[in-house]
Amino acid sequence: MKCPVCSDSSLHITSLESRLNASCCSDCQGQWISANDYWTWLKHHGETLPEKEPDELPIQADDVQRAKLCPECKRIMLRYKVGHSLDFRLDQCGSCNGVWFDANEWEALKQRNLHDEVHLIFSAPWQSQVRKDEARKLLEAIYTEAFSDDYGKIKEIKSWIENHPEQEKILNYLSNEDPYEIGASNSAN
Ligand SMILES: [Zn+2]
Ligand SMILES: [Zn+2]
Repeated sequence: MKCPVCSDSSLHITSLESRLNASCCSDCQGQWISANDYWTWLKHHGETLPEKEPDELPIQADDVQRAKLCPECKRIMLRYKVGHSLDFRLDQCGSCNGVWFDANEWEALKQRNLHDEVHLIFSAPWQSQVRKDEARKLLEAIYTEAFSDDYGKIKEIKSWIENHPEQEKILNYLSNEDPYEIGASNSAN
């Protein structure tokens, strides 16, 4: 098998974990795990490890950001964002389901205990959560910019109103330009 990144280099088998072999490129340090090898390893791996918080010194993955061809079936692999504060994508072949890890991607996943959930990263619920988290981060940045020093106070007020039993009355009062003027609809009769 040839490396999908370096194309001239051949992949050689290495032991990635106990009971898990990968095909590794000595030039770019990328790793290929076949679907069969992954699932066999996962079966012996036991319970899914609880996800760890981002490390103070996160392992930097070397994401190669272009599309690559599957080393086994030569089809274009799809790229999936990992999310969970990990800023890289994994390449998966939709035909043979093998996965390509650029240098240190496996290690970065393992640091967070996400290496035993790789199969879930390609699922619709995982990808939908990644998009939600991204939108949230973007809006958080927009509000921080728009409200600057008042943002903390605004969030506090919002949460106070949301948890108040008279929420609706408070909102009416706040949105009324002059809550002490009897409206035209009231005085018409
Ligand atoms: Zn390579
Ligand atoms: Zn393939």
